[in-house]
Amino acid sequence: MGETEQKTHSLLSPSSAHRWLNCPPSARMCEQFPSETSIYAEEGTTAHALGELKLLNHYGMIKNEEYQKRLEVVRQNSFYLQNSDEMEQCTDFYLTVVRSLQNDQNKNPLFLQVEEEVNFNEYVPDGHGTADCFFVEGTTLNIIDYKHGKGVLVEATYNPQLMLYALGIYLEYNWLFEFKNIKMTICQPRLDNVNSFQVTLNDLLKFGEEVKRVAPLAWEGKGNLSAGKWCKFCRAKAVCSAQAERVNLIKDKINNDPNCLSYAELTDILNDSESMIDYLNSVRAYALNQILEGVEINGYKCVEGRSRRIFRDEVQALKIASELIPENELYEKKPISLTSIEKKLGKKTFNEKFSNLVYSPKGSPTLAKEDDKRPSYIPNTPEDDFKNL
Ligand code: SF4
Repeated sequence: MGETEQKTHSLLSPSSAHRWLNCPPSARMCEQFPSETSIYAEEGTTAHALGELKLLNHYGMIKNEEYQKRLEVVRQNSFYLQNSDEMEQCTDFYLTVVRSLQNDQNKNPLFLQVEEEVNFNEYVPDGHGTADCFFVEGTTLNIIDYKHGKGVLVEATYNPQLMLYALGIYLEYNWLFEFKNIKMTICQPRLDNVNSFQVTLNDLLKFGEEVKRVAPLAWEGKGNLSAGKWCKFCRAKAVCSAQAERVNLIKDKINNDPNCLSYAELTDILNDSESMIDYLNSVRAYALNQILEGVEINGYKCVEGRSRRIFRDEVQALKIASELIPENELYEKKPISLTSIEKKLGKKTFNEKFSNLVYSPKGSPTLAKEDDKRPSYIPNTPEDDFKNL
């Protein structure tokens, strides 16, 4: 458990739906590899708790006394304290995004719910999850999902997690509201990512029928393995035969005549390279863990990695060194980083005092896919190199 409350996940959780809908056996395969709570997940839980409070407070859904009490708890959380400015900005942004989706920002939207448990058992065995925020306006159901992570940009387009929440909300409230459209929005402040996608109720129910077909397979560990983008966070990746077969698939793409690869073949390999590196790293990490747990893996053992000498008693060592080396040679004086200065002063003062002194040097050239949102790299001219000196 983290410092803030954590929700229980079902086998077929909405957050892993992209994976188990595409690769049904993965659900039971992942069960064999317990999920470890990462610091990113704990940080996300804290940000969600803060975002929830800001929404509840803004929409008058919490008494001030309780709001202050809960806010105090979040603001004492170590994940909050590590980066409080950023967490405040991200959750303020979340509130702004929710408000911007309302047709009339001066009125509270009808039936706004925050961190609400939704059930979709009719479609998925033990199907439940927690929707960050939803509200109804006219015949449109708005669902907003807050993502604190910045590792992978999340799209709202046919997002299965949000569509499962929508099915749950539809099941529970279709007697009360006439839903015609479902607007799903992802709010991912640390990647500057806000994107929405709308489906009709008909599209949603069609999706539900497909879910009804696949979910029982996933529940029973049946169906076919299928590798793709959804493998990224699969805990069974290292032992997955479909992943291993992908190594052979690369071989099939190569025509050995002539001996050197063509650019087209190179492109084929590049297209697979990111997921292959990811896969091979997970195999190495898995093998290491197995050996540490006493399993014998033919031809492999665990050794100590490279280590660096350190003083057993640094105070004592420096005392001796100071008798032998002048102080100005023994100690280095280094300024703190730009980010630390900004943290100490706050963004406003930092911008006032340093805006003319800050610039971002050109990043080193990095290979990216053509659809990457960043502009293509342009090498510096000699004039550029001198401009910032
Ligand atoms: S790694 Fe294997 S089990 Fe996991 S989602 Fe991919 S294909 Fe399915």
